[in-house]
Amino acid sequence: MRPITIQSIILHPVALPLVEPLKTSFGEEPYKAAVIVELTTDKGVVGWGEASVETRPGYSPETMGTALHVLREFLVPLLVGQTIDNPAQVPALLRSVRGHPLAKHSLEAAVWDALAKTNDMRLADLFAIYAPEGHQSRNCAVVGVSIGIQPTVEDTLAIIHKRLEQGYRRIKLKIKPGWDVELARAVRAALPDVTLMLDANSAYTLDDAAHLAQLDALNLLMIEQPLGHDDIYQHSKLQPQLKTPVCLDESIKSADDLRLALELSALRILNLKPARVSGYVESLEIYRLCIEHDLPLWIGGLLETGVGRAANVAFASLPAVTLPCDISATDRYFNPDITEPPFVLAENSTLPVPNGTGIGVEVQRDRLQQAVQRWQQYNPYQHS
Ligand code: MG
Repeated sequence: MRPITIQSIILHPVALPLVEPLKTSFGEEPYKAAVIVELTTDKGVVGWGEASVETRPGYSPETMGTALHVLREFLVPLLVGQTIDNPAQVPALLRSVRGHPLAKHSLEAAVWDALAKTNDMRLADLFAIYAPEGHQSRNCAVVGVSIGIQPTVEDTLAIIHKRLEQGYRRIKLKIKPGWDVELARAVRAALPDVTLMLDANSAYTLDDAAHLAQLDALNLLMIEQPLGHDDIYQHSKLQPQLKTPVCLDESIKSADDLRLALELSALRILNLKPARVSGYVESLEIYRLCIEHDLPLWIGGLLETGVGRAANVAFASLPAVTLPCDISATDRYFNPDITEPPFVLAENSTLPVPNGTGIGVEVQRDRLQQAVQRWQQYNPYQHS
């Protein structure tokens, strides 16, 4: 592996208008915000990463404000000047800073991209080097689509039909109390054969177990994160009361969290968001755990721009990612994105891994600049 020496790291705070604002149980944001990381090596190779943070501490405690602060003041200085020939060096170098997984992930992702480009390989093939023997990229990610909370069941069905026509084969619906069993029943009645799952984003408590058990009759692929965002124990009490598999998302922030959840039988499926667990090094450890425990795995998304999306598609192309992922085509989110070419849904509900080296998509400087200006105008909390 040819090493890289990190010469500089530039942070670009951006705001992109969403094609369709995504409403979940914690609300709605007008723009997709992110910090785009531009890492340049001493050989002039540029690696890109993304901290897919929101303006408010909703899904994650991290925000645009915390990410810019922690990256600029603490994390970036730990990496500039370092020579790296193995991505596992990055979490070790950043260890003195606790927490802030999305910020750490953005730097690690930029290192992975720069290392892959320096070694003339696709990021997917670099991941495969650190995956278990024989785990080569399948050259595409199998994907589904996530549908936010809509005003009515009719609106939901209309969007589902549109997505099915576009070629998506797995439908995920966001739910919250008062918008759950009846919705799922109506959708199941209208579409008896569609692969359907629900995501609760921590909107329930263990007291809702009997209510949620009504979902068992609806042949759902899974219910995602019904209970507390940092809970494992109560999920272990819920799963035995449901036939529907519980999938954990927010609760699993590290490989150790997954070990605990497996020990307690708190889940039957894992949604891995590489950013949530600090990056792809930790993600690969989790990937190995899933193989060891025969745990179905899929890759979730945080509405990443093309930068983060490309890296997630590469990771999701590994063969032990056995369920459809929440990584949709670009036109579902941004028009245009900051990268080219766009991700376009291909046959069998897949997104192909781009052929270029590294993440395989090119950041468009003019669009990046526009997105930075949009952030400067929008920035609701005046973080520079
Ligand atoms: Mg989720």
